[in-house]
Amino acid sequence: MSGPSAAERREELVAFFKQVRDCTKCPLSEGRTQVVFGAGNADADLMFVGEAPGFHEDQQGKPFVGRAGKLLDQLLGEIGLRREDVFINNVLMCRPPGNRDPQPSEIEACEPHLMKRIELIEPSVVCTLGNFATKLLTGRQEGIMKVHGRPQSYELGGRAVTIYPLYHPAAALRTPAMLETLREDIARLPQLLDANEAQAEPEREQEPEREPEQLGLSL
Ligand code: URA
Repeated sequence: MSGPSAAERREELVAFFKQVRDCTKCPLSEGRTQVVFGAGNADADLMFVGEAPGFHEDQQGKPFVGRAGKLLDQLLGEIGLRREDVFINNVLMCRPPGNRDPQPSEIEACEPHLMKRIELIEPSVVCTLGNFATKLLTGRQEGIMKVHGRPQSYELGGRAVTIYPLYHPAAALRTPAMLETLREDIARLPQLLDANEAQAEPEREQEPEREPEQLGLSL
């Protein structure tokens, strides 16, 4: 049985955005300018999950539009991808005051929103940027220093997904050695995406056309 089409999932994603843009599940709603739902290709094979919106993201309503976002754009460009080819979102949809770390209660409140986006977009590879996204989606406590660049198979949104943890671009901006590692890890993404595509369900063979019953043909 095939699931909903890309067009149906896109429509549902838009409906879901309209439903959650006034979310008040956690107190971050009180200080936000607007939710940052995520943006990009609604049928992307590749999704990025960051931490939370910062000042510029909160102002513009779009993820990764500041310096870290410019770096992400550049690194994507180095592997021939544009922002419009992928979907970019965060663990939290609302900006924590002063860009502090997300709190467990905020992550818990926002997690179903992230899971719903994963379910509707159906990415085959999810890059978790930094510790918060990595620990949330793997459900493990191993930190990003240890697991970056290691693809891992999980089930997310009811489907098999490869989680590929990466250093957060904001951390890479502060530490040149991390930037080089992030660049090397991202350079392996095309190979990972190709391998996942090859493993994807083969096209179902078409059933042979039935002879019209009306003809009453006997063998
Ligand atoms: N950092 C994040 O984790 N997400 C953004 O959207 C911007 C900066």
